[in-house]
Amino acid sequence: MAPRHERRPTPRRHPAAPAVELRAVRRSYGRGDSAVHALRGVDLALPHGSFTAVMGPSGSGKSTFLQCAAGLDRPTSGEVLLGGEEISRLGENKLTRLRRSRIGFVFQSFNLLPSLTVQQNVLLPQRLAGERQDRARARELLARVGLAEHGGRRPGQLSGGQQQRVAIARALITDPEVLFADEPTGALDTRTAHEVLGLLRQAVDALGATVVMVTHDPVAASHADRVLFLAEGALAGELVRPDPQAVAERMVTLTARAAGRRTGVAA
Ligand code: ADP
Repeated sequence: MAPRHERRPTPRRHPAAPAVELRAVRRSYGRGDSAVHALRGVDLALPHGSFTAVMGPSGSGKSTFLQCAAGLDRPTSGEVLLGGEEISRLGENKLTRLRRSRIGFVFQSFNLLPSLTVQQNVLLPQRLAGERQDRARARELLARVGLAEHGGRRPGQLSGGQQQRVAIARALITDPEVLFADEPTGALDTRTAHEVLGLLRQAVDALGATVVMVTHDPVAASHADRVLFLAEGALAGELVRPDPQAVAERMVTLTARAAGRRTGVAA
């Protein structure tokens, strides 16, 4: 294994600041009596080099959290800081540039461009950001995810697990402040999912990346350093160095409570 923090091409502007910080973040949809309060005041700070899983029952606000934290959506009130910089009030153009150069994304459905080669897909964020395309780094990242020989192929020639590896390399190419993963193993079988989670873990341990992963899978969550639980738009506890059993038990309790509230029966 390569030494920790072996490569840090872009110095952090505020190295002491958390990678991501949410301050009293609220997000409501609609107004008045019919308003839905998807986030009801979330405060958290995630340090650089950490791996955090976010879990919660359906409708607890996980997607809204991810969208607000990643600058894809704006909170109704409160602040989102990325590497110490407030992003929730940036204009659309600045926000788009920031997403391209300082945030990495990994989705359940891989989202690779089928007409580009694997290497071109990995380089795409740099191309879109108007940065120099660092082919040596693309090769290094592809080697890290076990695809050194596959740079010239098209995504359609790869398995699902291999495509998700490409997506991880692509998410890391700009050395982002944070990598957001939305159910990254949702479309993979158990063994392949385990490999992909191992790569996210390695990105944190060997490259100093910061990963925030939304998942419903307790086994996936147990690869993180910490699991944050959401319930009804608010933080509802955490588990540090989680094991799958403890995560599953916490989820059963939260899901039963959420179902109880919907049906009016206390859990
Ligand atoms: P999760 O990802 O945990 O399932 P979401 O963040 O998708 O939760 O949703 C949280 C709450 O906000 C839910 O009650 C959902 O119905 C509501 N919600 C999400 N997006 C919208 C929207 N665009 N318009 C109205 N309500 C929404």
